[in-house]
Amino acid sequence: QADMRIARRLARAGIASRRDAEAMIVDGRVKVNGKIIDSPALDVKPTDRIEVDGALLPQAERTRLWLFHKPAGTVTTNKDPEGRRTVFDMLPEDMPRVLSIGRLDINTEGLLLLTNDGGLSRVLELPSTGWLRRYRVRAHGSITQAKLDELRNGISVDGVFYGAIEATLDREQGSNVWITLGLREGKNREVKNVLGALGLEVNRLIRLSYGPFQLGDLAEGSVREVKGRTLRDQL
Ligand code: URA
Repeated sequence: QADMRIARRLARAGIASRRDAEAMIVDGRVKVNGKIIDSPALDVKPTDRIEVDGALLPQAERTRLWLFHKPAGTVTTNKDPEGRRTVFDMLPEDMPRVLSIGRLDINTEGLLLLTNDGGLSRVLELPSTGWLRRYRVRAHGSITQAKLDELRNGISVDGVFYGAIEATLDREQGSNVWITLGLREGKNREVKNVLGALGLEVNRLIRLSYGPFQLGDLAEGSVREVKGRTLRDQL
């Protein structure tokens, strides 16, 4: 469900006619997310908290969250100018319109969270949530555990500081190494940039978890909704 002007939303909810709703707004009787608003043209999201004379309006739509197993070779944008396959092209027909929580690079695989709630997606993709993102990485080159341990103190690459990364050397495979990484900021291309600075070239990158949500055994290209209690407990 799309954003809607607040006056229209009130009228839809049966609070008042569109014109009366506009008057109520101008009179300061309407709050959005705790703040009195004064513009009938303000756009509100289906999940915004709206109060009229102190009474809460039911949400237009409840917040929903899905786990998606993104395959490599897909882009996390709604429309790709180069016509490459997008994550959203792969979703079942009966899914509502969703947004991704953050993005994964085209060649990155694994867990991508999807939600119908624009406010939630903006909040959860911020580095400030401090949510742990775990990745399994295959990279060309060699490295020692001692060197990886230095990442705990953070590292600057091309003027960007990447803080506190936990990295474990899992095994060597031919001219590659497999590493498990945990980071809490999720800056653009963080894994590639950080490992690149250590002389490793990432050639496979799989996100295993995002905050409390795990990729688990979810099949590649498929989607699973997080429901009810689990969702309420985690958000
Ligand atoms: N780090 C990267 O380099 N790429 C991603 O897609 C995610 C994290």
